[in-house]
Amino acid sequence: MKRRIALYGGTFDPVHLGHLEVARRLLDLFALDEVLFIPAYVAPHKRLTKVSPALHRYAMLALATQGDARLRVSTVELDAPEKPYTVETLERMQQEFGAQTQLFFVMGADSWGEISTWREWERLLAGSNHIIVTRPGYELQTGQFAPAVSERIVDVRQSNQQEIRARMNGTNETRIYITDAVMTDVSATAIRASARAGLVQDLSQKVPPPVAEYITKYGLYRD
Ligand code: ATP
Repeated sequence: MKRRIALYGGTFDPVHLGHLEVARRLLDLFALDEVLFIPAYVAPHKRLTKVSPALHRYAMLALATQGDARLRVSTVELDAPEKPYTVETLERMQQEFGAQTQLFFVMGADSWGEISTWREWERLLAGSNHIIVTRPGYELQTGQFAPAVSERIVDVRQSNQQEIRARMNGTNETRIYITDAVMTDVSATAIRASARAGLVQDLSQKVPPPVAEYITKYGLYRD
C-alpha cells in the first residue's frame, strides 16, 4: 500500500486546537501515515502589521506537535526564496515523496469557499487528493463546479471510519473528500484577541499548554 501523507497548509498564527483536532481525526479516519503542517511564507512587508514572524509560527507548531510522531512541521514554504503558490508546493512535494506516496491536501470550509480564487485552482484540485473539513460558521458548498471537478468530489459526511476507508480504495484518480468529522469552533483570530486582552485562561482553552505559555512568554499579539 502507498504511504498516505496529508499536507496541511495555513498561516498558523497561532496553531490551535481546531487544527490539531482536524489532524488527529483525519489520521484515523483516512488511515494516514502522517500530517505535515506547512506554515505559509508571508512577504516581509506584511509581516509587521498582519502576521507574526515565521520563526514564532514555526516554533508554536513545533511545540504543539512535539509529542506525536505522526504530526510534523515542514519548512518547505518558509525556506522558499519567494512565496510559492500552493499548486507549486504540492507538485514539488509529490516529486520529492515519489510515486509510492499519496498526498492529501487539507483545508477548512472557509478556504474551500474561496478555492476558485487560488492560483491554477483546477490544476491544484486535480493534481492530488484533497480533504475538505467542515467548520462552524461556514457553509460547505459542493454544487457550484463544472463536471471535471464535481465528478471527483466524494462526500463522506456521516460516514464512519470503515466506510471512508472502503471508499478510498479502488481508484488511482485524485479525489476531493468532504468530511464533517470535526466541528471545532476555534479560530486564530479569536486567540489573538484573547492574547491581546490578556485573557490567559481563555487562551489555554484554545491552544495546547506549551503554545499558551509561548504566547504569554514572548508577548505575542499584544500590539
Ligand atoms: P485566522 O483566524 O487567522 O484566519 P484560522 O484559524 O483560519 O486563522 P489558518 O492558519 O488560517 O487558521 O488555517 C489553516 C487551515 O486550517 C485553513 O484551511 C482553515 O480553513 C483550516 N482551519 C482552521 N481552523 C479550523 C477549524 N476550527 N476547523 C476546520 N478547519 C480549520
